[in-house]
Amino acid sequence: MTKPLPSEKKDMTNNLMEKIVSLSKRRGFVFPGSEIYGGLANSYEYGPVGVELKRNIQDEWWRTFVRERSDMVGLDSSIILHPKTWEASGHVAGLVDAMVECKKCHTRTRADHLIENHFEAKNESMSVEGKPETELDAIINENKIKCPVCGAFDWTAVRKFNLLFETHVGIVPEAQSKVYLRGETAQGIFVSFKNIIDSTRVRLPFGVGQLGKSFRNEITKGNFIFRTLEFEQAEIEYFFDPETSDWKELYDGWKEAMEKFVTENLGVEKDHLRWREHGDKERSFYSKKTEDLEYNFPFGFKELWGLAYRTDYDLNQHMKFSGVDLSYTDPATGKKFVPHVIEPAVGVNRLMAMVMLDAYTEDGDRVYLKLKPRLAPYKAAVFPLLANKPQLVEIARKIYDDLLKDFTVAWDDRGNIGKRYYAQDEIGTPFCITVDFDTIEGGEDGTHKGTVTVRDRDTGTQERVAIEKLQEFLHGKIYR
Ligand SMILES: [Zn+2]
Repeated sequence: MTKPLPSEKKDMTNNLMEKIVSLSKRRGFVFPGSEIYGGLANSYEYGPVGVELKRNIQDEWWRTFVRERSDMVGLDSSIILHPKTWEASGHVAGLVDAMVECKKCHTRTRADHLIENHFEAKNESMSVEGKPETELDAIINENKIKCPVCGAFDWTAVRKFNLLFETHVGIVPEAQSKVYLRGETAQGIFVSFKNIIDSTRVRLPFGVGQLGKSFRNEITKGNFIFRTLEFEQAEIEYFFDPETSDWKELYDGWKEAMEKFVTENLGVEKDHLRWREHGDKERSFYSKKTEDLEYNFPFGFKELWGLAYRTDYDLNQHMKFSGVDLSYTDPATGKKFVPHVIEPAVGVNRLMAMVMLDAYTEDGDRVYLKLKPRLAPYKAAVFPLLANKPQLVEIARKIYDDLLKDFTVAWDDRGNIGKRYYAQDEIGTPFCITVDFDTIEGGEDGTHKGTVTVRDRDTGTQERVAIEKLQEFLHGKIYR
């Protein structure tokens, strides 16, 4: 049986997005940003279970794409790079959004979102990415698109707004001290390219992977953690010699690897995904091909993971701006050239939103997150059946302490077992372990002595497992 599409699930379960937002806050996945001060738009705090889920997704990515591949190495570059980096990359001039402001209520919004939402509401599709301001102005005026906040039709002309956050190094806010918080992690890879090839034994084709925060001054509503001021990126630059490697083959290999990661490692249904190729206007002028792997979010198919063949544009730009030779010399032939690059770039926060939406399951009164056990914030929860029976608590505590050495484990001794199951289901804990009187007394025929009840999140079935076999049991179920 295939799971329903999230957009269908939305109808079925009524407002899936709202349910995820509410569950996130209730159980400690994601909290609204700076809430005690009235909140800060497009910012969020990742709570005690959210940080575990996010980290597990990152670890899964790092393990799959950096550690388990012989053609990949890792990097952790700075958030604040030399400001010339962003001139070279084109972000100072190019990471701009076309914005409009409502003259009546002063709401500022991205012109492309305003237009797309207008057509989406009418069940029509309209892609305006890459269109010049004058064209956006014309579309807004021709269609009399109103302000989504106050309903007025009174817009300023579309104008450009840079998304890079500016700050200053040192105490004097002069032009010379101006720096940017990085708008993407990828540029750090190009900046360190020479040091990587000089310090390691990597040979083309090879890739560099990086995980880390990036920052964009987004001022439109971000759909929960889909679009936020700061976000965690997982980017790869895969370098190759275009004369000896077939870029199409490498590109298709990455497509396959990305899709496999989402469906197999993250457990997302394949038919909740689609590929969308960028048109000529949308694609950067230097890119030969760009596609987005999109997920069917409750607010429509949206970009999850971009894949772009960027040619030798970035390295050439950094050579031009730095004056440093960033070419590669083939150790076998002595051929010297600037490598080409393919870039798979994804936001971890989007992956997390997708994983939660896809895992959300309602079964009668029961709500659970059907997460892959590897991704679950807690691999197991340990309960003493009754909190006021020291014998039960003592055994349960020992199991908990022992399992903690190998797994993330939750402890709960409040209320009845049903409520504890309910709480763990919402967090996505795959196994709940209960120490009961059979553990001590052995049950009717004595065979349950030294065993505990292990309850499966997805089926709700229970089985007795010997305490000394628990570690092995969980390991087999989680990392099989
Ligand atoms: Zn308005």
